[in-house]
Amino acid sequence: MTDAPVSLPLVFDEPRRRKPPRHLADLSPDERHDAVVGLGEPAYRGRQLSTHYFSRLVDDPAQMTDLPAAARGRLVEGLLPTLLTPLRTMEADRGTTRKTLWRLFDGALVESVLMRYPGRVTMCVSSQAGCGMACPFCATGQAGLQRNMSAAEIVEQVLAGSRALQRGEVPGGTGRVSNVVFMGMGEPLANYKAVMTAVRRLTDRPPDGLGMSARGVTVSTVGLVPRMHQLADENIPVTLALSLHAPDDELRDELVPVNTRWKVAETVDAAWQYAARTRRRVSIEYAMMRGINDQAWRADLLGDLLRSYGDWGWVHVNLIPLNPTPGSRWTASDPADETEFVRRLEAKGVPTTVRDTRGQEIDGACGQLAAAPT
Ligand code: SAH
Repeated sequence: MTDAPVSLPLVFDEPRRRKPPRHLADLSPDERHDAVVGLGEPAYRGRQLSTHYFSRLVDDPAQMTDLPAAARGRLVEGLLPTLLTPLRTMEADRGTTRKTLWRLFDGALVESVLMRYPGRVTMCVSSQAGCGMACPFCATGQAGLQRNMSAAEIVEQVLAGSRALQRGEVPGGTGRVSNVVFMGMGEPLANYKAVMTAVRRLTDRPPDGLGMSARGVTVSTVGLVPRMHQLADENIPVTLALSLHAPDDELRDELVPVNTRWKVAETVDAAWQYAARTRRRVSIEYAMMRGINDQAWRADLLGDLLRSYGDWGWVHVNLIPLNPTPGSRWTASDPADETEFVRRLEAKGVPTTVRDTRGQEIDGACGQLAAAPT
């Protein structure tokens, strides 16, 4: 690593320079009533508009035939502005993995990835344009943070996926997004308020929201400890993933710079508390880097660390074969080392899986989202 001091990316919820336009998905049902009244329409139109948007996935005024034409125009202009403009879609796995590059209202670029599996469709969404966490093995971390995304900009990524499925554009028949992972660009817990609003819109019952199950929503974090505690207090049992990548502070300080602020022990403790409070199993993400963090002794150390909190199934480890990023000095682990790593964790009683990384060939896999316009 360099000798340069690590600049700590500890800017939470920093003010946006120019806010994205207000959108229905930013607002709670009560706020929607106020907003439609503000547009000169009766309050019940809030629910009608919500039904179009969240239940029917419609945002085209021509399809809102139960609304008078004049009202449609006003409501769509005032509450359903276009937030995401698709610039490019790339496909892999015979079309069942689709990465889309979006331009936001201010020119910022973000990406999302739809992954269809037998029986479920997962949408990997971005929560920030760029990322301030500066993990050196992650392409998003290299470019720094541009800005936080609004709740509606986050929700719209999911809607876009569901609309594509509804139109039959994804092989496997029509369908809807069933799972959402906050594993695209950005650190979701550094954009806490908008991410929580988005989670509510995803899980609120139709027509207030999309009616997804909270357990189908995964929030992944580098380990912003106070925000992990706050998340446990929300009473929305989303799945929490912690990007650990090393069981010791010396290495984690390098791989995940925020570790210089919240150490491994404190971070894992917060993850355990999350599991204890929500009774949801926490996922520990661990990108396997050859000769860096994949030694047998580190597997033992990780196993002992996690087991020290008990064996009631509070945790599992998800190993991610390192995906290549431009200019990275690191490569994926040798398969034999990976197998041994899994064996040692399992031997300590820690359930371990190796992630099937999708979309590598379209730079759509973990850590590869960089939103380059060409
Ligand atoms: N900032 C959050 C959300 C991003 S999730 C977080 O870090 O958890 C993206 C996941 O992919 C994280 O676990 C991240 O550490 C991992 N990742 C980043 N770069 C990677 C790479 N090159 N190969 C494999 N996984 C990577």
